Amino acid sequence: MSHDLRAKAKAAATHSHSPYSKARVGSALETTDGHVYQGCNIENASFGGTVCAERVAIWKAVSEGHRRLKRIYVYTVDGWPPCGMCLQVMTEFADGNLEVVIGNEAGQETTRRLKELLTNAFTPDHME
Ligand code: ZN
Repeated sequence: MSHDLRAKAKAAATHSHSPYSKARVGSALETTDGHVYQGCNIENASFGGTVCAERVAIWKAVSEGHRRLKRIYVYTVDGWPPCGMCLQVMTEFADGNLEVVIGNEAGQETTRRLKELLTNAFTPDHME
């Protein structure tokens, strides 16, 4: 399962638009209803317009009507974890048990639950 997402995340990284950081990031996610979406980081000369690979994949899923995430894979050469903003966005569309798989070029993978990466999260429940 995660190997399929790994291949898709790694492939997405090849589409990265990262002329400033030179860091190619790819992501692939699986929704609870079995759809898969890919994303890459898309940087912008304004910097503020930059969007991470994970959020690109999430925007694609949500924009096509799939709002519940089951698993998300993040691929970078060095195995970088998701940033805080991406973890917050994941919280909007998944519960704390979301599997977040972090993979690197060497093939090493680490799987964490969202609640481990973003403890005491501000969730949609707080807004009810
Ligand atoms: Zn991010």
